Amino acid sequence: MKPSFFDLTYDELKTLLKEKGFSPFGATQIFDWVYKKGVYDPFKWTNVSKASQQYFSETYDLSLLKVVWNGLSKDGTRKFLVKMSDGQTVESVAIPARDRLTLCISSQVGCAVGCTFCHTATQGLKRHLKTSEVVLQFVTIQNWLKETVGVEEKITNIVYMGQGEPLHNFENMKKATLVFMNEKGLGLGQRRITLSTSGLVPAIEKMAQDFPPVNIALSLHSARNDVRTELMPINKVYDLERLFKAIKMIPLKAHRRITYEYLLIEGMNDSMDDVIALSGLLNSKESKINLIPFNEFPGSKYKRPSEQKIMWFLDQMIKRGFTCTIRTTKGSDILAACGQLKSEFEKLNLWDGNSQVIIPSIASTVLQNQAL
Ligand code: SAH
Ligand code: SF4
Repeated sequence: MKPSFFDLTYDELKTLLKEKGFSPFGATQIFDWVYKKGVYDPFKWTNVSKASQQYFSETYDLSLLKVVWNGLSKDGTRKFLVKMSDGQTVESVAIPARDRLTLCISSQVGCAVGCTFCHTATQGLKRHLKTSEVVLQFVTIQNWLKETVGVEEKITNIVYMGQGEPLHNFENMKKATLVFMNEKGLGLGQRRITLSTSGLVPAIEKMAQDFPPVNIALSLHSARNDVRTELMPINKVYDLERLFKAIKMIPLKAHRRITYEYLLIEGMNDSMDDVIALSGLLNSKESKINLIPFNEFPGSKYKRPSEQKIMWFLDQMIKRGFTCTIRTTKGSDILAACGQLKSEFEKLNLWDGNSQVIIPSIASTVLQNQAL
């Protein structure tokens, strides 16, 4: 089987061209054809030498993924099931919000981390996605939207919040991020990409030096070690002390922010003790908290707290000076049979660094009365 063209970063493409005796400047033209113009047939790359057209056509696979299913929600959220060459499928979700179209991308088939509230965890880890399979979720869906909905449908933001733990697939996610950000191609700015992690400490430490400076969302879910360990077995090895030591190593420039994701589960992490622990652990000036009401799925052992309880928790955090939002549910009408991504769809309210707070409908009455 031919290697996928979409595994190549811009620098790798340049090196490859040089090695094969072609002009390395061709990399700019080829990235332009593929990522800006969406032309996947090398023989149509008219300003590229015939010999290199021939070379790429013979040596590289430029096919996209197969969209095997898609569903459109009333609120405009579109869920895709995409199939890779070995027949495995993953989910990606396109979520419109204000002037953005955010694509939620998967990083693995299944996941090894084993969080007790997560549907993907029940599958275990089947395999990592290749760089090309990560990049191709974007390219395939962008192309699908252009052909099916219209040219104005442009994906503007990416979140790595689909299936899998992105930092467990470090090298491939890093390469895919380099492709997304390269200005000769898709040119997505670093603030338009958000990586969500369960807190793989060695990878966070490595990220500080060796990963493009994207936004980070940390799945915290509890500020108490015993509760966090019950929810996320990874906390047994990398507990809160180790986790926060690693987080402090990430140089937080203006463009790189950390959002703390906090799942709200009835009777588990939604009490006054939890409020106190959370406000004691985080610094209100530097942290943004995103509350995620637990999404129940068939067989899940936890419950979502009442709306009243969710609002109470939000209110407690706001009173303590935190920027805190609740994720609204998006696409719920197309997600009934879906586990993990059912929750991922709700993740639209990521802080973009500009807007102060995004007010979901259930919170609006309360929040409008607060001086936010
Ligand atoms: N593995 C990474 C990214 C994918 S999961 C991580 O854990 O951060 C993305 C988010 O979905 C995480 O914040 C995770 O905690 C959340 N999530 C998983 N199952 C959920 C559920 N049933 N309800 C609500 N959110 C859920
Ligand atoms: Fe993996 Fe994230 Fe699910 Fe935990 S929440 S099992 S890390 S995908």
